[in-house]
Amino acid sequence: MNATAATVTKTKVTALPGDGIGPEVMAATMRILEAANAPVEWEMAEGGAEVFKKGIITGVPRETLDSIARNGLALKSPLETPVGYGGKSANVTLRKHFELYANIRPVRELPGITTPYTGRGIDMVIVRENVEDVYAGIEHMQTTTVAQCLKLMTAPGCERIIRAAYGLALAEERKKVTTATKANIMKLTEGLMKRVAEMVAPEFPSLKSDHIIIDNCAHQLVVKPEAFDVIVTSNMNGDIISDLAAGLVGGLGIAPSSNLGDHAAMFEAVHGSAPDIAGKGLANPTALLSAAIMLLRHIGAFDVAATVEQALFITLAEGKNLTGDLSPRGHGVGTQAYTDQIIANLGRA
Ligand code: NAD
Repeated sequence: MNATAATVTKTKVTALPGDGIGPEVMAATMRILEAANAPVEWEMAEGGAEVFKKGIITGVPRETLDSIARNGLALKSPLETPVGYGGKSANVTLRKHFELYANIRPVRELPGITTPYTGRGIDMVIVRENVEDVYAGIEHMQTTTVAQCLKLMTAPGCERIIRAAYGLALAEERKKVTTATKANIMKLTEGLMKRVAEMVAPEFPSLKSDHIIIDNCAHQLVVKPEAFDVIVTSNMNGDIISDLAAGLVGGLGIAPSSNLGDHAAMFEAVHGSAPDIAGKGLANPTALLSAAIMLLRHIGAFDVAATVEQALFITLAEGKNLTGDLSPRGHGVGTQAYTDQIIANLGRA
C-alpha cells in the first residue's frame, strides 16, 4: 500500500499501559506501530494497581470504560490483581463489563524460537469462554471454615462460544474443532458445554468435531500438540491450558490474545505484569506486539499487520538482539534494543 500516513484514516483505540512491565511493553509496541505508519490513534486510559489505590474497587475508572465504549477497541497491558485477597480483577471487570465472551489465544511455532517441540508443526487456536464459569465472581465464606464458589454456565453462553470457535475455524480455513470439558465429573455445567457443542457441530459439516476430557487434553497437548487445531473450552480450563500451550512454543513472553464481544474488542498479552522484572527494561514486548497485530487485522489493516509481523519474524529468525527470555543465558538485550531491531527490520519486510 502506498498511502502516506497523512491520507490514512486512523482508528481510535483505547490504550491501557497497565502495571509492572505493562508501560514498557506498551511503549515498545506503540513505537513499532508508529514506525510502521499503522492507522491507529491512541486514547490513553488508566486501569489496575494505581486505580485500586485510589479506592476504585473495580480497578477501572469510569473514564476508561467510557473510552472503550466510544472506541469499541482497546489494547491493554497486564493489570495486577491482588492474589488471594482484596478486590476483584480489573481484567475480569473489563471482560464482564463489555461482555467480551470470546478469548482467542493463538499458539504456533515462531521462527527462530527453538523449543523441544520445534518442527512439530504446532499451530492451534484456543477459544476460551471469557465471562462465565467460576470467574463470574460469585464466591463467599459459608462459615468461617467453608468457602464456596459458584460455577455458572448457561446454554446461551456455551452456544455463543461454541459458535465463535466454529466461525473462527471456518474463517481461518482450519479443519477441526475440539471441545474440551470436564463433563465426566461436572455433568450439568461442563456437560452443558459438551451437549451444546454436539448440537451445533452438525451445522458445520466441513469441519471435523470431537470432544476430549480436559485433563486428557492437557496430557495430549504435551504429548502430541500438533494434533490440535481449534480447542474450545470453559473459562478456567482455557486459562490453564492456554498458558500450558504457550509454554510449548516459547513461553508467555510471546503469547497474544484477543477478547471479543459483539460491541467491543480488547487485545492483550497472555502474560501478567511480571513484577520480578518490572522497571528493569528487560521485558519482551512480543506478546503485546502480536496482540496489536491481531488488532490491526481486526480493523482491516492487513498490509500494515503483515509488515509488522514480517519484521518481527525476521528479527526472531536472525536471533540478533533478542530479549533475555528468548536468548541463551546472559546474551539477551533489553526491551529498547529489541524494539529498535524490529523497527530496523520494518524496511526489509
Ligand atoms: P506473569 O505472567 O506476570 O509472570 C510469569 C513469569 O513470566 C515471570 O517470571 C515473568 O518474569 C515472566 N514473563 C511474563 N511476561 C514476560 C515478558 N513479556 N517478558 C519476559 N518475561 C515475562 O505471571 P504472575 O507473576 O503470575 O502474575 C503477576 C501479576 O499479573 C498478578 O497480579 C496477576 O494477577 C497479573 N496478571 C494479569 C494478566 C492480565 O492482565 N491479563 C494476566 C495474568 C496475570
